[in-house]
Amino acid sequence: MRLSRYFLPVLKETPSEAQIASHRLMLRAGMVKQASAGIYSWLPLGFKVLRKLENIVHEEQMRAGHIPMLMPTIQSADLWRESGRYDDYGEEMLRIRDRHDRDMLYGPTNEELITDIFRAHVGSYKDLPLTLYHIQWKFRDEIRPRFGVMRGREFYMKDGYNFDLTKEDALHAYNRHLVSYLRTYERMGLQAIPMRADGGPIGGDYTHEFLVLAETGESEVFYDSEITDLRFGEREIDYDSVEQCQAVLEEFTSRYARTDETHDEAIFNEVPEARRRSARGIEVGQIFYFGTKYSEPLGATVQGPDGKPVPVHMGSHGIGVSRLVGAIIEASHDENGIIWPEGVTPFHAGIVNLKQGDAEADAACEALYASLTALGLEPLYDDRDERAGGKFATMDLIGLPWRITVGPRGLKNGVVELTSRKTGESEEMPPEKAIEKIAEIYAPHHRSVAVEPMQQRSFHTWL
Ligand code: ATP
Ligand code: MG
Repeated sequence: MRLSRYFLPVLKETPSEAQIASHRLMLRAGMVKQASAGIYSWLPLGFKVLRKLENIVHEEQMRAGHIPMLMPTIQSADLWRESGRYDDYGEEMLRIRDRHDRDMLYGPTNEELITDIFRAHVGSYKDLPLTLYHIQWKFRDEIRPRFGVMRGREFYMKDGYNFDLTKEDALHAYNRHLVSYLRTYERMGLQAIPMRADGGPIGGDYTHEFLVLAETGESEVFYDSEITDLRFGEREIDYDSVEQCQAVLEEFTSRYARTDETHDEAIFNEVPEARRRSARGIEVGQIFYFGTKYSEPLGATVQGPDGKPVPVHMGSHGIGVSRLVGAIIEASHDENGIIWPEGVTPFHAGIVNLKQGDAEADAACEALYASLTALGLEPLYDDRDERAGGKFATMDLIGLPWRITVGPRGLKNGVVELTSRKTGESEEMPPEKAIEKIAEIYAPHHRSVAVEPMQQRSFHTWL
């Protein structure tokens, strides 16, 4: 993309309504624009990041054997009356009446709808196990929408639902989700710690929230500092293996890590004092096993091996896709702007032309642009007729991990400059060498940042 043809409405002033860094930077970098309280338009740069996160979520869900689909945003109140949650959900549910006076609502979550689909189409235990998921907009009429996309009213969420014959099978699905979530967040360059949590209106005894530690987080958390040393990393996992998934769950949940709702001072005090931490965290996901809580009232049964109908065991599993955009920025920025982890960056590298209109500089930039594009990478070329300082400030603000700076002086010596956004370090090298380095950084064998073939295509084509 050439910046002269793009739509990147960066703001010079710091917006006064934004209290935290991610909100400020998303507004300043032209990623979102508030449409009304807690509701945002995603401008091109923000939309690109949102799609990258969505891609990672899809890939990791499908890798775990979960099946993508799409349910609507608007739901009928009837199903929620059947489950008993129409009244329970309270003020957070946006209730709508259609022209025929039917009660409708904008879905805050989808347990009822998915259970209705299941009961209509699945009849036998032989069709299990089954995990279906979708990524769809949700609406919760939050009393205090704030922090930009972190606590919106309309937000984008992956929610998945497992259906199993027995509690044991459903707990394997729970563990499988935990593993796939660990991989998902690590690919986004984040450490999200599973912490024992409270069921809330969704209910259930088995539940973990995934928290990204950040001072601006809304959750209070308590943990054993040893847990921050754990990484899922490059290990291979067989998602069908009950033992392997269970072992990962044990590894990642055996140390003390709880949100304030489940915090237990007596147990916490058994952790050696030097390792006891209390901090703030951003909830970026949650997994639940809730047994037959919805399948019983909604009649989601299958014929068991003995021919008798049994209610299925269920769980639901959510990732806050739009909140993650903010969470990643909270975890990765400095005073000059965002620092995108390579796995989610909207463009792989920026090209800054120090002297637009200079024949040699223009030609060198075009050549770099063509080479990066040929590699399947997306460069953002600042080809505007602007002074260098302004170009650098924009690149720093929007946070691309790598910048190639091209100017007539360097070109005389056959070099361009490659700069890391994270460390600020620059190195002069011939243009081919800069391309080689960037290609290496995004090469497929670096699984955590790889531009996998699937990611290069539009997300519609690979589902
Ligand atoms: P919170 O406690 O932050 O209100 P929740 O526990 O009610 O969230 P879940 O039902 O667990 O939310 O939804 C799954 C995920 O969706 C959450 O982990 C979070 O990342 C995201 N999410 C929930 N509410 C919002 C919101 N208002 N704005 C943006 N993302 C949200
Ligand atoms: Mg939650």
